[in-house]
Amino acid sequence: MKYDITIYGNPALRKKCRKIKTITAEVRQLAVDMLETMYAGNGIGLAAQQVGRTEALVVLDIPLMTGSGEVRPVESEPAVKMPVVLINPVIVESEGSATCEEGCLSFPGFYVPVKRAETVRATFLDLDGVAHDIRVNGLFARAIQHELDHLNGKLLVDRMAAERKLELADDLKRLRESGLQQAEATAS
Ligand SMILES: [Zn+2]
Repeated sequence: MKYDITIYGNPALRKKCRKIKTITAEVRQLAVDMLETMYAGNGIGLAAQQVGRTEALVVLDIPLMTGSGEVRPVESEPAVKMPVVLINPVIVESEGSATCEEGCLSFPGFYVPVKRAETVRATFLDLDGVAHDIRVNGLFARAIQHELDHLNGKLLVDRMAAERKLELADDLKRLRESGLQQAEATAS
């Protein structure tokens, strides 16, 4: 089942995640539905809040080749295959910094430079309950940081440079209003 993606302004995006205690059939179905929703939106990552849920669950499908070369984990135990489902992900180490244009399915049409760590080490469980410990850089690292922000109710708008945010103020206001309307429509 494809979900509607929650848009900036929808309060669902500000909710903090709750840890998944048991990987139930419902959790598996949520992962399947989130992947379907992500692909339909041509995204490379999606967090539970973007489909109005609060489970600590992220799906990613990072392209293995980009204009700047091959994207692969620096270290990965066990190996990660795309698409990947991250349950209860935590960033345990981060190093360096890099600024890159970033988009978000909850901010359609927005691409803004965001400064993030260049390399991160993260732990998570997969759908089989297997614990993973990965060290990644480039787009993979950026996507993990972006999606973990979502799990903590943090958004692209919170990472924009103040100057850029001011430039985009009118567009952001319009988007925020449509997100609020979306939430009201779902509630009624
Ligand atoms: Zn996003």
